[in-house]
Amino acid sequence: MNQFTFIGMAIMNMVNYGIDIKLLNKRQFKGGYAGFYISNQKAFEVATQDPSFFDVFVHEYCHFLQHNEDPNFFKKYGHCKFIQWLSGYQNQATDEEVDSWLMDGIMLEHDCEKRAINLIKKYKLPLDIEAYKKSANAYILSWWYAREFCRMPNNLNCVLDLVPNTIKNISFYRNKNNYLNVRQRFIDAK
Ligand SMILES: [Zn+2]
Repeated sequence: MNQFTFIGMAIMNMVNYGIDIKLLNKRQFKGGYAGFYISNQKAFEVATQDPSFFDVFVHEYCHFLQHNEDPNFFKKYGHCKFIQWLSGYQNQATDEEVDSWLMDGIMLEHDCEKRAINLIKKYKLPLDIEAYKKSANAYILSWWYAREFCRMPNNLNCVLDLVPNTIKNISFYRNKNNYLNVRQRFIDAK
């Protein structure tokens, strides 16, 4: 299925559930995000000038699917308190709370990326699946970077050669050592 047919199908599916959809002519949103799905606001937005626009569209659509198809899972892990903390809210939170929100976020993103890869395969979408898996791995591990530096990294391209090209079990992403390992090899390669 080509990109346009898929986007049309996804939009119609979300319209049927009353989601407000915005495809905005910009490179990113405040905070460095290229897209988001916020369940309680029924908001789906993607920046069309991001170089990975279609990847981001598929990823955010998978957050909508998570919410729709597995509401209990989404309710448990999709509250994004970690993102609120990153944005400067929740600044009274203890380290233990932030660590537990980080684990929730990693859980949500890991499930989302698995869904995205299944969709890419199911609809034979015009995305390089090996490259997508690497980006997904770099992205999920980058949540540890965000925990360490209180912001998302600007660019993940520089670590794509340092992450696995297969999606691992959730325990891999919950283990901080796997992030530290990538970070160290990045520093060594400089
Ligand atoms: Zn996500």
